[in-house]
Amino acid sequence: MKIHEYQARQLLADAGIPVPGGKMVESVQDAAAEAKRLFAGGAGIVVVKAQVHAGGRGKAGFVKVCKDAAEAEKAAQFMLSNRMVSPQTPPEGLEVRRLLVAAGVDIAKEYYLAIVTDRARRTNTLIASAEGGVEIEHVAATRPDAIVKVALDPLCGLSAYQARETAFRLGFKGKQVAQAADAMMRLAGLFLAKDASLAEINPLVVTPASAEHPDGQVIAIDAKFNFDDNALFRHPDLRAMFDPTEEDPAEMRAREFELNYVSLDGNIGCLVNGAGLAMSTMDIVKLHGGDPANFLDVGGGATEQAITEAFRIILADPKVKGVLVNIFGGIMQCDRVARAVVASAKTVGFKVPLVVRLEGTNVAEARLVLDAARGEIPTMQSASDLADAARKVCAAVA
Ligand code: GDP
Ligand code: MN
Repeated sequence: MKIHEYQARQLLADAGIPVPGGKMVESVQDAAAEAKRLFAGGAGIVVVKAQVHAGGRGKAGFVKVCKDAAEAEKAAQFMLSNRMVSPQTPPEGLEVRRLLVAAGVDIAKEYYLAIVTDRARRTNTLIASAEGGVEIEHVAATRPDAIVKVALDPLCGLSAYQARETAFRLGFKGKQVAQAADAMMRLAGLFLAKDASLAEINPLVVTPASAEHPDGQVIAIDAKFNFDDNALFRHPDLRAMFDPTEEDPAEMRAREFELNYVSLDGNIGCLVNGAGLAMSTMDIVKLHGGDPANFLDVGGGATEQAITEAFRIILADPKVKGVLVNIFGGIMQCDRVARAVVASAKTVGFKVPLVVRLEGTNVAEARLVLDAARGEIPTMQSASDLADAARKVCAAVA
């Protein structure tokens, strides 16, 4: 699960990492009012930032540093009435429904800081760079030596000496060292406590020297988290941060019926039971030159109603030019799937070719159900095995 930046900032603040004050708003008026309040409270600059589950906002023009309330109002107006397109969004962009209006800070230097689960190294890892900011992907791709990686001990997490050593390696000076190391320790603690798979601050900034802070201050001004969905049951505070409007609507509907649905780019809709069979179905479709439009695992215990809903989700996708049903009935009864096929033909209609391969529990009864309905589903073909099914569906969409 992902959360918005304004929620991520709250987590950082609660964990004791310095974050500028601000507020989430949903209208231009509220954005202007919050900007006025911040300026009245002494802020020199105010930032208006689109709150969407995608990065690259700065380059897309959806992070605006403003010198007065009128400028903030204009920025809010722009962001709430234009879709944001960045390398991290779909080509048509994302609608912006929420904004963060926050006190801006003067920046002397931008750093990158993250804790991630590194599957290749099989450890949680601190990743840090003295070249943080909007070019971090480019830095990582072209100059990997500018990125520091430190493995966390599985039991002890990040040690204080590792954090201090990293702060020195990144070039923090004077009082900044302790502040940066402290931010690393607190971020690592948060990562563990919240069952995150990513906790990222980009940028972590140092402010220019001032009379009050001769070494500047270390402050987080953007943050991003991913949480392990399987651990959310023990984090009601995180679950409350879930924003369904940022999710794929089809995936949300699937979740309601406890279906595992992931939308993909191809044109063959797949309805399968079991994640392993779903994977091998995708492989064999690819092997025969086809391209799956989705990954849909109805699981073992899906009801006829849930399977019908699964067909509804697949058939509502305009990319889908053919449907492959591949069921190995173990716990799942084939006749239940067959009845769902017939019900879907009635309620949704199979306008595209349908290839059905059923095997296992109650398969004889399932075949009778499908044979009886053949007249109502003229686009349906049966397949004898997995390869035959893949061949037939690929030919049908070619
Ligand atoms: P992202 O592009 O989605 O990662 O959005 P960020 O919040 O990281 O902002 C992008 C860039 O905008 C940062 O790297 C900064 O250079 C700049 N920026 C963001 N907030 C401020 C601020 O308060 N003051 C100044 N001077 N620049 C900021
Ligand atoms: Mn950022």
